[in-house]
Amino acid sequence: MLHFDNRLVRELPGDNDTRNHTRQVLGALWSPVMPTPVAAPRLLAHSAEMAQELGLEENDLYSPQWVEALAGNTLLPGMTAYATCYGGHQFGSWARQLGDGRAIFLGETINDKGQRFELQLKGAGPTPYSRRADGRAVLRSSIREFLCSEAMHHLGVPTTRALALVTTGETVNRDMFYDGHPVDEPGAVVCRVAPSFIRFGHFELPASRGDEALLRQLVDFTLARDFPELPAHEGDRLLPWFVAICERTARLMVHWMRVGFVHGVMNTDNMSILGLTIDYGPYGWVDNFDPGWTPNTTDANGRRYCFARQPEIARWNLERLAEALATIAPDPDALALVGLERYGKIYNEEFGKAFAAKFGFTAWDDEDTDLIEDAFALMHRAEVDMTLFFRRLAQVDVGAPDPSVLHEAFYRQELLTLHAAELATWLARWSERVHADGESPATRTARMNAVNPCYVLRNYLAQQAIDRATKGDPGMIHELLEVLRNPYAEQPGRQAFAAKRPEWAQHKAGCSMLSCSS
Ligand code: AMP
Ligand code: MG
Repeated sequence: MLHFDNRLVRELPGDNDTRNHTRQVLGALWSPVMPTPVAAPRLLAHSAEMAQELGLEENDLYSPQWVEALAGNTLLPGMTAYATCYGGHQFGSWARQLGDGRAIFLGETINDKGQRFELQLKGAGPTPYSRRADGRAVLRSSIREFLCSEAMHHLGVPTTRALALVTTGETVNRDMFYDGHPVDEPGAVVCRVAPSFIRFGHFELPASRGDEALLRQLVDFTLARDFPELPAHEGDRLLPWFVAICERTARLMVHWMRVGFVHGVMNTDNMSILGLTIDYGPYGWVDNFDPGWTPNTTDANGRRYCFARQPEIARWNLERLAEALATIAPDPDALALVGLERYGKIYNEEFGKAFAAKFGFTAWDDEDTDLIEDAFALMHRAEVDMTLFFRRLAQVDVGAPDPSVLHEAFYRQELLTLHAAELATWLARWSERVHADGESPATRTARMNAVNPCYVLRNYLAQQAIDRATKGDPGMIHELLEVLRNPYAEQPGRQAFAAKRPEWAQHKAGCSMLSCSS
């Protein structure tokens, strides 16, 4: 059994209205709300690592009580159910109150190391924040969230986690491409886990309403619970805290750029205060390297959330958070000024470290900029698979560089032919640069392979797992979970999971185009 200590509901003001109806919630940061029971819960998959971290035995997890709890049909001793109140900027505009429209918390549990985790069911039914939607989630998006959050964890990318994936035995009606073709899809619930699910939008909402008292309460709470490492000194506590958020966000952006992850909906309500990847929706993994690529069909025109713009958008989001916090700051201008300067500094430093390692340099040198940018330009124009390129680059013999080692990373023969000379020239320059470092080939290869994943949750792989699970076979979910547990190690017999996107997947729904419908 888990030990619960539900600090958020104990320490922060809650909603007095206990009925479950859509409304504006003023003067409170959460509303009590029970999950809506489902017909026939079935535990489809779980994360063994997450269960272990929480101190849960797998036998417990598969017990009827736990399966019922993971589906929202019952609360176990110590659990308490609520949804939190937040706002957000969506696609650049202030969207007012949003809130947990389909995520319902089960409380905060503390493991035997004293670590605190919030548990949350996504897709557990309507809440006061559901607006016009149903509070439910479909199996396809739930599989994507479940697999990707665990994959990101194993890649070393800060993220919320997933404990379990449950099917509900009920259907959910969705018009996947908003084109007037709604269908009934299988419903599911993911149990998500994080030390804190607090988002930028949690602070923006009370600030937008001029509720300074509530904003202060939330800041004090977040500092005490989620940032215990910050010195509790007198005076301006907001500034060092905001700087810490900027640093964490900068590091997160470097990780996303390093592994080729595109979030797809970087609205401020989807930005974690702890710098975690949060809310896996129409995200995608870069196959052929394309800075302008966005997996989100809703974003196809503006490309606000495309791969290369993520660091800039994160900065924009931090500016919105700074504005919200400025309403209660002793020195309102200092937040954005100091914090964003720090954001840029940490981003540049960490990007340098990460990409020096990706390219096999022992350290970043500003003179490497051209070499790296030329590689990006070549990869883009010649449609080179990002993940395979870096994996293969690690195998190149710098004494006698052979461009054919990289050929597998090209999607199109005609583009390979067209860029063959450019590739050879670039590789020769790169080899010379790496050779000059004087590192032994074995050491360099190992260092490169430690930051360049072999296995990522390629969009088409997730889609294959979804297609099979929808037909009743969850096997590939388990297989992917297993492979993605060790993303940096080549796994014998599992080469297929490292292969570049097959031709059929290039324009298939779910493989390259994803909508927000989930
Ligand atoms: P997202 O862009 O998916 O992060 O969601 C934005 C807002 O819409 C959040 O407040 C969500 O809780 C809410 N939302 C998304 N899907 C649903 C749904 N099916 N039912 C209720 N609320 C939803
Ligand atoms: Mg969201």
